[in-house]
Amino acid sequence: MTSILNADLHCHSVVSDGTLTPEALAERAKAHGVDLWALTDHDEIGGVQRAAAAARVIGLHYLTGVEISVSFLGQTIHIVGLGFDPNNATLQTGLVRTRGGRGQRAKDMSDSLAKIGIHGAYEGALKFAGNQELISRTHFARFLVETGACKDTYEVFRKYLTEGKPGFVEHRWATLKDAVTWINGAGGIAVIAHPARYKFTANEEFALFTEFKGHGGQGVEVVTGSHSAAEYLVYADIAREYGLAASRGSDFHSPGESHTELGTLPCLPGKLTPVWELLTERIQYA
Ligand code: AMP
Ligand code: MN
Ligand code: MN
Ligand code: MN
Repeated sequence: MTSILNADLHCHSVVSDGTLTPEALAERAKAHGVDLWALTDHDEIGGVQRAAAAARVIGLHYLTGVEISVSFLGQTIHIVGLGFDPNNATLQTGLVRTRGGRGQRAKDMSDSLAKIGIHGAYEGALKFAGNQELISRTHFARFLVETGACKDTYEVFRKYLTEGKPGFVEHRWATLKDAVTWINGAGGIAVIAHPARYKFTANEEFALFTEFKGHGGQGVEVVTGSHSAAEYLVYADIAREYGLAASRGSDFHSPGESHTELGTLPCLPGKLTPVWELLTERIQYA
C-alpha cells in the first residue's frame, strides 16, 4: 500500500445526506478505480455493515468510517474517524448524542425560513432524508431546489443556510476532545476533515491543530473535494509540520450535485505518510 493507491476515504450515503445507498456507492467507487474505500456518513455508523458487505462482494478494500460534527471556537468543524470498531459502545452512544439535536434544529431552521416566507421546509426537507434521525442542511437545500427557490444546492447554502443567513440556526455539536477520544477508544484514527473550509484566523487554526494532536488526533485531509490544488500544498506542509498522516477523499454526496466524483482526485503530494499506512491492520481486504 503506497501513496499512489487510489484511496477514497470520505463520502456519504442515504444513511446521512448522500443520495446513493452504501451498495451503490461501493459499486461507483469500484467503477471509478478506487482501491480502498470508506463510507463516512455524518454522525452515523448505521451504514457500516452494508458498506463492508458490499465492498467484499465486489472486491474493494474497505475501512470503517464516520464524519463527526464538532463545535470548536464557535464554528462547526468535522472530524473523520477511520478504521474503528463499529461495535464500540462509547462511540455509538457518543454518536447518538451528537445527532440527537438534529430534529429540533431542523424545526428551528424551518421556523426561521417561514419568517421570510418559505413555508413547509421541515416537512419538505424530511421527505429527502433517507434516515429521519439524520436530517441535515443538505436536505433543506434539496427541498429549496425542488421548490425552484434556487438553481442548485450551492446557491441555497450561499443564500439561506450559512452563518448569518435566514435559515441558519446555531447548534452545539460534540467537543473536539470527545470526537477524537471516541474514535481512538474504538481503535480508529481521527482525521481533521477539509481544514481549508473553516474560517479560522491563523491563531485559531494553530489552536485546532495543536489541541487535536494533544487529544491524540493523527491525521488531516490534504487532498479533498473541498480543497483547491493550492490548498493541497498548504495542508501537505501543515501535515508535515504537525507530524500528521495525510488523507484523501472526494466527499462525494450525489451524482449531478457533487462537483468531485469518487476516486478522481489527484494523488497525495510527496513526503507524506498516507493515513492508510497507519491502518493496515484495520483494512478489510476483499
Ligand atoms: P449539517 O450537518 O446539517 O450542518 O449539514 C452539513 C452538510 O451540508 C455538509 O456535510 C455538506 O454536505 C453540506 N454543505 C455545507 N456547506 C455547504 C456549502 N457551502 N455548499 C454546499 N453544501 C454544503
Ligand atoms: Mn454532507
Ligand atoms: Mn464535512
Ligand atoms: Mn463529508
